Amino acid sequence: MMRTIRQAAVIGSGIMGSGIAAQLANAGIPCLLVDLAPTGLTPEGEARGCTLQQPAVRNRLAISAIERLTKASPAPLYDRDFAGRITPGNLEDDLARIGEADWVIEAVIENLSVKKELFSKLEPHLRPGTIISTNTSGISVNAMAEGRSPEFRKHFLGTHFFNPPRYMQLLEIIPGESTDPGLVKELSAFCESRLGKTVVRAKDTPNFIANRIGTYGLLMTLKIMLEKGYTVEEVDAVTGPALGRPKSATFRTLDLVGLDTFLHVVNNVHANTADPDEKAAFAVPELIKSMVAQGRLGEKAGQGFYRKE
Ligand code: NAD
Repeated sequence: MMRTIRQAAVIGSGIMGSGIAAQLANAGIPCLLVDLAPTGLTPEGEARGCTLQQPAVRNRLAISAIERLTKASPAPLYDRDFAGRITPGNLEDDLARIGEADWVIEAVIENLSVKKELFSKLEPHLRPGTIISTNTSGISVNAMAEGRSPEFRKHFLGTHFFNPPRYMQLLEIIPGESTDPGLVKELSAFCESRLGKTVVRAKDTPNFIANRIGTYGLLMTLKIMLEKGYTVEEVDAVTGPALGRPKSATFRTLDLVGLDTFLHVVNNVHANTADPDEKAAFAVPELIKSMVAQGRLGEKAGQGFYRKE
């Protein structure tokens, strides 16, 4: 029987979670968007007499993500009412509401133990048959499902959206070893017909298909830049608009992705390959390590290879 997706929940309101929620809302599907509740108040909040119990404070990360989305340009890619279909929340207070969703999408930081802990917290709140997927860039779907029940594993799979979801058509679907094949078929059809995606089925191998290839290209480009003494701007000039790729110059792309996420994605292949050549090629470059240590994470931090004007 064909499942109906009437409402969705997205966990993690960062770059990807917020963009995925907007895509679903744009397709007319109401979506709960949650992040962590803050553990402390900002000095401005304290000065205004805010408390950590107020919904506006507890849902702050998701609320500001929705505000950012409404300012995204070009706006016409979203239906004017899309933001009204996204409800902000936080993980701690909204577990029961997450359980009402027909499709729960995980888009928290790229870290296996954080994701596993989240799934163990979510599982008791899910109804039988709830679809649950991860937006991981390349962590093993089977490893994430370890310790979960057969019912959870049957409805669990990878749905890898690309950044930014509103422009990128590609969606990799990664079934786990226990995923119901009927669900894979139905969700693929749903993503193609309702979200306008081009779905590619990928195997559960480190970084799947597009990131395994794309990450290698980015690492090689960085290596050549450093070895040959080119500047970031010079490399972007020849890997971006001049090649007919207006949005995908190398270092602009890395800033958009987030250097912390890039570091985890590179490391994922390094840690999980047995091939010594591949291990060497996927060693995280010192430059990336030091930029992450300095908080130069890219656009989300206002500073990466480029500084936000
Ligand atoms: P991000 O850093 O922008 O956002 C992550 C969000 O998760 C943050 O808002 C953080 O507060 C929240 N979070 C962390 N732990 C949480 C928890 N336990 N519960 C609820 N929220 C939690 O990261 P992102 O770039 O949106 O990446 C999210 C996922 O999507 C990662 O798995 C990443 O690999 C994947 N992905 C990223 C890109 C990209 O280009 N950035 C592309 C495709 C897939």
